[in-house]
Amino acid sequence: MTIKRSIRLFALVLVTLAFTGMPPASRGQWSWPWSGGPASPAVVAVLDVGQGDAILVRSPEGKTALIDAGPTREGAVTALKREGIRHLDLVAISHHHSDHYGGMEEVIRQWKPRYFLASRSGHSTKTYLKLLQAVEAEGITAIQPTSRPRKIALGSVELTVFAQAPEDRREENNNSVGIRLKYGSFSVLLPGDGESPERRWWLEHEPDLVRDCTILKLAHHGSRNGTDAHWLDAVRPELAVASMGRNNEFGHPHPETVSLLRRAGIPLLRTDRLGTIAIESDGRSWKVVRPALLARRGRPTQDDVDRVAASTTDDAPTKPARRTRVR
Ligand SMILES: [Zn+2]
Repeated sequence: MTIKRSIRLFALVLVTLAFTGMPPASRGQWSWPWSGGPASPAVVAVLDVGQGDAILVRSPEGKTALIDAGPTREGAVTALKREGIRHLDLVAISHHHSDHYGGMEEVIRQWKPRYFLASRSGHSTKTYLKLLQAVEAEGITAIQPTSRPRKIALGSVELTVFAQAPEDRREENNNSVGIRLKYGSFSVLLPGDGESPERRWWLEHEPDLVRDCTILKLAHHGSRNGTDAHWLDAVRPELAVASMGRNNEFGHPHPETVSLLRRAGIPLLRTDRLGTIAIESDGRSWKVVRPALLARRGRPTQDDVDRVAASTTDDAPTKPARRTRVR
């Protein structure tokens, strides 16, 4: 498939997924601490895939979405199998960098999801084009952000895809697809690797989608260009999560980001220290369910996180840092 044809594929195929509903209001008065209940919770898992992102969403009805697929073919596949995922309804690529799409072609070949979401950014590589060919070959419906926010119903979990910011031809990170996940009053902000210019654009154009999110997935693996005080003031998360490889060559997360979060009293959960991080919500309260050591502590403080990370790091074998060409 030529580049032109790939672009045409995206330009032509626009599908609107109907938004079918919110979590039922009669979910019961579940409050913290978690009391369990009759319905399955929604789960958001930041998968341990090394230096990259891969975020798995499961709705209470069993609908599934994978936002990014990490840097390698094996990483995402292994993680999804470990999660017991038999089908994927939606896969998304936050932006066209290989630490986010490296595992996606294999995921598409094996799971054959129904929908593929990615931006129209012109930034491309041979590997990315091969991924697009797989999307076409498997008959997967390609969708993309538009000039207005669009809602995707994943069962009773609602994903709002931000309007696409103007294309940045120099810095692909700023072409990240922004997504806000909402389930009742629980929400998660997924800003890809969006750096200051894109985050500023979001704050200006989509302030309500950015503000007051329960959980923030840090942009750009905790890089200093992925978080700033103004951004944190707007998002006001109760918890931050970030995905990066152990001893990665970029120094992620950067100390500036870590101290910003500390000053704001926002605990940070990192995949390089904790492995896969999973958070459950019943649409009202939330809790960390993995790593198991942290789950016992309920809603964790930074001290809890540090203690668990220290005990996990002591036992775990040291993985070599994965090298990627992405900043
Ligand atoms: Zn990245």
